Amino acid sequence: LQGYVGFANLPNQVHRKSVKKGFQFTTMVVGESGLGKSTLVNTLFSTQLYPNKVVAEPSHETPKTVDIQSITADIEENGVRLRLTVVDTPGFGDFVNNEESWKPILDNIESRFDAYLEQENRVNRTKLVDNRIHACIYFIAPTGHALKPLDVEFMRRLHTRVNLIPVIAKSDTMTEEEVHAFKERILDDINFHNIQIFQAPQYEYDDAETIAENREIMSKIPFAIVGSDKEVEIEGGRMVRGRKYPWGVIEVDNEDHCDFVKLRQMLIRTHMEELKEYTNNFLYENYRSEKLSAMGI
Ligand code: GDP
Ligand code: MG
Repeated sequence: LQGYVGFANLPNQVHRKSVKKGFQFTTMVVGESGLGKSTLVNTLFSTQLYPNKVVAEPSHETPKTVDIQSITADIEENGVRLRLTVVDTPGFGDFVNNEESWKPILDNIESRFDAYLEQENRVNRTKLVDNRIHACIYFIAPTGHALKPLDVEFMRRLHTRVNLIPVIAKSDTMTEEEVHAFKERILDDINFHNIQIFQAPQYEYDDAETIAENREIMSKIPFAIVGSDKEVEIEGGRMVRGRKYPWGVIEVDNEDHCDFVKLRQMLIRTHMEELKEYTNNFLYENYRSEKLSAMGI
């Protein structure tokens, strides 16, 4: 496939390490109903990722109101295997009283930390199953105005527990200028509320090209997303994944049209290890020490 760079092209060192350990990567999608979460999951898992099987897992123990479901696919590329799980959270923000919409999601994330902690405490710890959430894609409605109180509350409650990656949902409903202005507004709001979103570390040993690529990806956050699991015809008869309008087609995989490719690259290739490391070394570690000190250990 044209322009496709996947996890088999990770830098050598990271690649070798990960091949040995096996890739296991879990991401979660959160946002109000109708913003395109399920469509994005399908888009992530369709064609580009070549899933050889997609199995719906039994949903994780179900919390109060938000229904949590996950889908897992084993993906293979050039002999490298990746087990990718996406956890979908339908129902978020759908209630008359959304004051505690964030709670079942926080509970789910923490229960995964607990499950990991429990394994670490076992005598035999050779095979740890890592079901922790390594990234949380948070969907912001394409209003063009500002973050909603619900968005602020969710991110404030969750940012110490998970890598937050904010995205603008259905960005095809806004003009390029509107998207640009909205991105700035969102980042201002995030700063104003002291919300910590995922920041990629920079390494001295990275070459100039890698640094430039990473900077390019990070500069697109919040990613402007367009999802579609359908192919449509464009000029010249070529079929692309996209959304058709009377005036033309918005292509999911065209970087001039939206940031979907950048989001996928970040998750699957350029920042997978960093997202996992930050989850393990900081988010999980903080949770663990808070928990132990609460228990007086
Ligand atoms: P969810 O409730 O967040 O899971 O949203 P869905 O994925 O079910 O999408 C809700 C509706 O929005 C469906 O009709 C989708 O076809 C449509 N939709 C999904 N993604 C996009 C997008 O990027 N742009 C536009 N315009 N519509 C979208
Ligand atoms: Mg859905």
